[in-house]
Amino acid sequence: LDKQSQKLEFKREAAYFDGQWIAADSGRTTPVTNPATGELLGTVPDCGQAETARAIAAADAAFPAWRARTAKERAKILHRLADIVEANSEALGVLLTVEQGKSLAEAKGEVMFSAAYVRWFAEEAQRVYGDVIPSPWPGRRILVTKEPVGVVGAITPWNFPSSMIARKLGPALAAGCTIVIKPAAQTPYSGLAWGALCEMAGIPAGVVNVLTGSASAIGGELTSNPAVRKITFTGSTPIGKLLVEQSAKTLKKVSMELGGNAPFIVFDDADVDRAIEGAMIAKYRNSGQTCVCTNRFLVQSGIHDRFVEKLVAASNALKVGNGLDAGVQQGPLIDEKAVAKVEEHLADAISKGAKVVAGGKRHKLGGTFFEPTVMTGVTPDMIVARDETFGPLSPVFRFETEEEAVRMANDTEFGLASYFYTRDLARAFRVSEALKYGMVGVNEGLITTEVAPFGGVKESGMGKEGSKYGIEDYLDSKYVCMGGL
Ligand code: ADP
Repeated sequence: LDKQSQKLEFKREAAYFDGQWIAADSGRTTPVTNPATGELLGTVPDCGQAETARAIAAADAAFPAWRARTAKERAKILHRLADIVEANSEALGVLLTVEQGKSLAEAKGEVMFSAAYVRWFAEEAQRVYGDVIPSPWPGRRILVTKEPVGVVGAITPWNFPSSMIARKLGPALAAGCTIVIKPAAQTPYSGLAWGALCEMAGIPAGVVNVLTGSASAIGGELTSNPAVRKITFTGSTPIGKLLVEQSAKTLKKVSMELGGNAPFIVFDDADVDRAIEGAMIAKYRNSGQTCVCTNRFLVQSGIHDRFVEKLVAASNALKVGNGLDAGVQQGPLIDEKAVAKVEEHLADAISKGAKVVAGGKRHKLGGTFFEPTVMTGVTPDMIVARDETFGPLSPVFRFETEEEAVRMANDTEFGLASYFYTRDLARAFRVSEALKYGMVGVNEGLITTEVAPFGGVKESGMGKEGSKYGIEDYLDSKYVCMGGL
């Protein structure tokens, strides 16, 4: 523990706004625990409406000077921030693992991914082009410019406590916006670390502010304060809908990255080993706790038994344990509620005839550890067909025809990520066009990258993060008609 606490050099037990590290007005704090051990890591301030209003005022005051900097200057600072994140990936990774639970390898990977987002947007900052449109009138010119929207409110989840902030903070700062961030209560330290990192990078006071505390009080102020011009949220669909509703009163721009119900379709003509490799990463990454994790395996009859047999073997081979221990691939689930949900989905499926063929119960390590689990004979009337499990549960549905698979895959209100495996080129095009999803992996189980647009359709949200499209959400276009020429 001693060695570990030395490494928690980015742990900050204060909120960061206007360049200051502060306690809550009330002096109250909230504890933060390690999900792998249950040990207390420390506390964070329990901020509310008043502190949020002050953070917004700081961001509003910092906005004119930050937007007035040239794109090149902002890019330089963002590159410096990316360098600092990369240089501290070990310490930031350990901090992430102890509060979130994922393996250290995955945690360091996430930190590097954060740096990649910041760097990408450092470059995009310099590619925010306007337009000159041929005028229908003589003596006038039509100009279109892009301007930063203003103060951004960002609310982020616990499953990617570092990178979900990076892909909001990166484009916001690149565009010339300032930002107030509320990280999730379970994983506040990776969020507060951004305050320390931004300080080290020389980002001026008020440009980036990070507040911990009451979700409803902070969220309520962010969505109702007229100075905030945009809300960007990653989290559950019900909370996303609530935030959109709250933001409607002051008509803020909104970007929502919400829940998914990802299908993973394996056709008879698939390369089964490649499909298993993709399945393992699409399903068990972060112990199944990502919004793009496979929620449903749809497997064609002819390949079904072979696929299941290999999936069972691979699931049983996963090493479960404390994310800091060498070779661990599966950490604990985030909390007791998360375990209860997996158990509920499992019990419901079993009661309706599904069969457990791997795992199926809490792990002998105790706490919130759960065995990687596979079940077959899953049917559309079971809860797992509709609800996101967010845990290490692999339900396998059997299908006969391509039409049936596409119908099953689309039979959900969600539309985030989807995956399918086939070696038939015509089918690859047909199915990727038929899937009502924002993202499709064809013969790939891991498709997220900072260069491609991440985002969903239907009730999985609106807006894109990453890529050349990701900065658009932080910009307004302005039309200027130059007359009297
Ligand atoms: P999850 O189920 O993954 O925790 P949530 O949508 O509940 O997803 O949480 C995602 C983020 O939204 C977290 O930072 C959480 O604190 C925040 N949040 C939860 N409820 C509210 C709310 N009423 N207003 C604003 N933010 C909220």
